[in-house]
Amino acid sequence: MTHAPKPMKIAFLGGGQLAMMMADAGQSLGDSFSFLDPNADSCAGKSGELLVADYSDPEALSQLAASADIASYEFENVAVDAVLQLQEKLPVYPSVDALKACQDRLEEKQLLQQLGIPLADFAAVNSRIELLAAIEKIGYPAVLKTRRMGYDGKGQMVLKVPEDLERAWHKLGDYPLILEAFVAFENECSMIAARAQSGDTVYYSMSWNIHLQGVLAVSFSPWYSASMQQQAEGLVKSILEHFDYVGVLTLELFNCGGHLVANEIAPRVHNSGHLTIEGSTCSQFENHIRAISGRVLGSPQSKQVSVMLNWLGEIPKHGKLLVMPGIHLHDYGKQARPGRKLGHTTVCAENWDDMRRKLNAFSHLKNPAIQAAIAALA
Ligand code: AMP
Repeated sequence: MTHAPKPMKIAFLGGGQLAMMMADAGQSLGDSFSFLDPNADSCAGKSGELLVADYSDPEALSQLAASADIASYEFENVAVDAVLQLQEKLPVYPSVDALKACQDRLEEKQLLQQLGIPLADFAAVNSRIELLAAIEKIGYPAVLKTRRMGYDGKGQMVLKVPEDLERAWHKLGDYPLILEAFVAFENECSMIAARAQSGDTVYYSMSWNIHLQGVLAVSFSPWYSASMQQQAEGLVKSILEHFDYVGVLTLELFNCGGHLVANEIAPRVHNSGHLTIEGSTCSQFENHIRAISGRVLGSPQSKQVSVMLNWLGEIPKHGKLLVMPGIHLHDYGKQARPGRKLGHTTVCAENWDDMRRKLNAFSHLKNPAIQAAIAALA
């Protein structure tokens, strides 16, 4: 693999586990890292210099810019103004245009529509009258979502019958909203790609993703047929080219009987790609660093089959499971809180039969992600 001529200093808005895993990958290339995050116990602090301040603090942003050659961000809800301030001093990837489009579900859906990407019917909702008109057009069931700041199923409600409408309006009516048709999907999946400054692009194998209570619990990869993979690559390619995108981007999709329908774009590395650390030749984290630092990208090829189990609220004690080959526990070192993403385990296996056997060894641990993974492969 070709390396950039000199190690880079890279700044991140956000110091959570995504920034930490990107920094850990980048350190193996010789790069060093700084992070801005309002939380003093941000886990990326172990992997570089942590500046503790609000994202809108102009002095902190100047200090962050002074510490680096290039900048990036680990989540899409970072203020556009902060990115614009950084951009005056150094290159920021992915571009602010991509960030803006992904912050507003309405703009995002309009873009997907413009690019000819299949998606559920949708309508903007800014008043009760517009909600009634939207439900008339879209019908039940539908999903009412806040246009901004929604993630992991937050800020959304499913409307199944007319009685749900009043309840949803009461809860969400203060925000600009979007109503989407409910997609009766077979399962959820994602496609992660990395695009270099040269425009060269690599695509990871698609993951099949199981969500529990709106949050990703398990990913399986590589899962889908060559034709599904090709379909998803085509959709992601058009988004990457539209933005002349640099970095890693994820498209979350619904699989409707072999036909893919887009859910949303994440302009960043993704939870469903954590398994690429051990499962692929070059991980999504390393490829994001490679892309934004002007390097050649690494191969996304899957080395074997992988399952990622997400640990929310507590990390089950692995004990002797850790001695089994192909078991990789990542503890982010975060303080436990109910529902908080504390770590994940990637299980790698020769094939899906071998994977079933390995996952069964986890079955005594009463954890919803493990139970969901075992049930899904049964
Ligand atoms: P989101 O925050 O939009 O990614 O939604 C979180 C989860 O809610 C998704 O992963 C799906 O499980 C579910 N969901 C969101 N939108 C829809 C939809 N239009 N139809 C069916 N399920 C949905």
